[in-house]
Amino acid sequence: MASVLVVNSGSSSFKYQLIDSESERMLATGLVERIGEAQGRAVHTVVASDGAEEKSERELPIADHTAGFAVMLDAIADLGPSLETHPVIAVGHRVVQGGARFFEPTVITDLVRINIDELSSLAPLHNPANLEGIVAAQKAFPGVPHVAVFDTAFHQTLPPAAYTYAIDAELAAKHRVRRYGFHGTSHRFVSHAAAEFLGRDVGDINQIVLHLGNGASACAVAGGRSVETSMGMTPLEGLVMGTRSGDIDPAVLLHLQRRAKLSIDEVDDLLNKRSGLLGLSGRGDMRDVVDASLDGDADAALALDVYVHRLRGYVGNYFAQLGRVDAVVFTAGVGENSPVIRARALEGLESFGIRIDAERNEARSRAARVISTDDSTVAVLVVPTNEELEIARQTLAVTRA
Ligand code: AMP
Repeated sequence: MASVLVVNSGSSSFKYQLIDSESERMLATGLVERIGEAQGRAVHTVVASDGAEEKSERELPIADHTAGFAVMLDAIADLGPSLETHPVIAVGHRVVQGGARFFEPTVITDLVRINIDELSSLAPLHNPANLEGIVAAQKAFPGVPHVAVFDTAFHQTLPPAAYTYAIDAELAAKHRVRRYGFHGTSHRFVSHAAAEFLGRDVGDINQIVLHLGNGASACAVAGGRSVETSMGMTPLEGLVMGTRSGDIDPAVLLHLQRRAKLSIDEVDDLLNKRSGLLGLSGRGDMRDVVDASLDGDADAALALDVYVHRLRGYVGNYFAQLGRVDAVVFTAGVGENSPVIRARALEGLESFGIRIDAERNEARSRAARVISTDDSTVAVLVVPTNEELEIARQTLAVTRA
């Protein structure tokens, strides 16, 4: 039974999943981290067909990504699954920024690698790291196609009115300043899974997908196409996130540079790493913020208020953009697991056709489910995301085409 390897590479780590190409079952998953540090760490988990997991963990120096893939192959040889019974027929890579050039999954050639590298100016933290993973994986699996699946690709259907920033057009074009949107692999997977759950053709329905994880974004999906999304040129725009500010008056940055004498790098660090829930409450993890707020912590309560206020603003915005909404869909860590946030995001919207069923909302499950009442005009769903499976599917689709 053939398998697909899915790789999500960061600058000093990579995650992987081995997925059966027919049954779509996850055969193994793992993480190689602290690459380049004195001591690296590799965790490999094999998942049996009955769901039983066997995990191995090793600490050893891992010089670079190439060494990381050798460690991964060792772990697979030791623990399984056997690559003889499950030969890897393709490798799918998550690539964050595909710019305006890549609007679909793409087999990685020398030219594609050059293009991904060239797009690093738009995603300096992500694309170079993704590329390191690609180069190393191509050495480890030389005989099979490698496919880049871009986080931005799903949003290439945004109309110009949605992706254009109202600044000097020439300057913007020269520096490729426009909105690209991210989390596209998740928004695509979830909007398709939601349509399937509802027994509807994805082309026939309009959805608002709320991907609320550590990073968070909203997406208006009309007939299966992304028409508006909350992240912009970078993943900083939009919703309040774990450590990112989301939307902010750009003049605040100028003010902080002038008055607080912050450097460009300090502003970058402030908005990406020390803002959002963390900046407001000292806690970047939603569970901790909810718990602290229940314990009476005023900063945590305000952080939640700001988070929910912003989220509701986007929901209202996307109702106006779409005109008709058939489903609102929650996904990712917060969206899948936090009844409080889901309830607060949509409470009092009966005039929008939204009625949440409190009991359904509180029920715990790992499956796709409906949390609205039977008489709610708009279906409200919780649909677990699975970006790795979507990457595997898209990888196979390209290699089979
Ligand atoms: P993700 O990036 O999709 O893995 O999501 C991570 C976020 O989900 C973190 O902020 C977690 O605190 C949050 N999360 C996970 N479980 C829960 C939960 N039961 N209630 C609230 N937030 C949760």
